[in-house]
Amino acid sequence: MTYRCEACGNKTRFDVIETKRVRAFHHYSLGGELSVEEEQLLERKLEKVVCRWCGSADSIVSSASA
Ligand SMILES: [Zn+2]
Repeated sequence: MTYRCEACGNKTRFDVIETKRVRAFHHYSLGGELSVEEEQLLERKLEKVVCRWCGSADSIVSSASA
């Protein structure tokens, strides 16, 4: 997924706000230290993409091709 801002032509810098549901294997050492393994993305909901250059959120177009 790539984004482009039609307002200013920015193609590289965006703030992406999204909600994710993930399943992860939490692996604790005996000392209580956590390492997260096998993280699996169950659901991803894109909420908003904001251009870092001009702050526009309405002029962002996305395309699936890179
Ligand atoms: Zn912009």
